[in-house]
Amino acid sequence: MKLFSQEQIENLSKFKSESFLTTSFYLNTDKSRMTKKEITLSFKNLLTNGRSQLDMREMSRKKKESLSQDLDKIGLFWSKHLSSYNFPGLAIFSCNSEDFWQLFNLPTPPRNRIIFDQNPYVRPLSAILGEYYRIFALTFDRREAKWYDIFMGEILLLENLIGDVPSKVREGGWKGYESKRIERHIATHLHDYFKKIAQRTFELFKKNHFDWLFLGCREKYCSDFEPLLHPYLKNRLKGWLKAMPSDSPTTVLKESLGLEKKLKKQEENEIVHRLVSELEKGGLATSGLIKTLRSLNRGEVQTLVTTRYFSKPGRICPKCHFLFVDEPCCPSCQRKTDPLVDVIDEAVEAAMDKNCGVRHIISPSKLDRYGKIGAFLRYKT
Ligand SMILES: [Zn+2]
Repeated sequence: MKLFSQEQIENLSKFKSESFLTTSFYLNTDKSRMTKKEITLSFKNLLTNGRSQLDMREMSRKKKESLSQDLDKIGLFWSKHLSSYNFPGLAIFSCNSEDFWQLFNLPTPPRNRIIFDQNPYVRPLSAILGEYYRIFALTFDRREAKWYDIFMGEILLLENLIGDVPSKVREGGWKGYESKRIERHIATHLHDYFKKIAQRTFELFKKNHFDWLFLGCREKYCSDFEPLLHPYLKNRLKGWLKAMPSDSPTTVLKESLGLEKKLKKQEENEIVHRLVSELEKGGLATSGLIKTLRSLNRGEVQTLVTTRYFSKPGRICPKCHFLFVDEPCCPSCQRKTDPLVDVIDEAVEAAMDKNCGVRHIISPSKLDRYGKIGAFLRYKT
């Protein structure tokens, strides 16, 4: 199934077996960045890694067998579906002896990993979901209003409302007195109708909780309508669409996604701008891989800011889990460090573990000039 809600994740994490462990399997299947051959290779490596983890771990034969069957089943699934699988990521949760199997198609690639634990390991799912905004698109004219819910590139019509605003001013009346009266009458109607739309939007917001509100209406209505919105909604109003209620959902979606992309880029620019000015004044920020890892190891990081798809090999201390670019021995406990294929990925993971924020910035950006990675700090030592 497609990953789309926090509720799915909550349901998944409720699963627990008294007598067996669960396999959580994540695979980066992004065909826009990797060939089929590369994906198959990382899939095989991951499964081999899973099997050697199983060999090394102490547990009852029954438990081990169930996990080994999970791996067989995942292997079988992948060999059947490799060619036709067209999502950037795959997550599978399996506990064969309890007949438990759940599969998620992911909209962004996860880090490859296999984990055996009591519960399904769901944190990467939450991280993926957390990167998407829930958008409400409201289109209206004097005849009709339509509310759409847009999330993860999909659009759903929530509701529509037919207005009862009289459509035109009839000519006539003594010295135009009559038509003026009708105009006023229409204006009142229109105002009431807008009020109704604004109220309904707030009710829908309380039910569905969206992050951003986009409005599509004629320009002349904007200034009348906006003041009617609840302050919560005014804060979330992020832009205006050209779309009208008569437009198809596809058109509304296309316009909304265009606006979303622009707003996200703006937001990213603001973050980088804030980081750079903090760095320049010597405030609570750091940049560059070595310094950022050092701050992360020391627990100083508040928000990690990294360029998306930036990847570098590195090292990890097996005891303290400190991350390094090239320390052969951990300066803290003197143990020999282990090599890592991608230390950025580990850094993101470590940041999430420590409840730090993580922001991904799309390159090119100003962050490129600061070593592609940096962080806002809680304090500096
Ligand atoms: Zn150490």
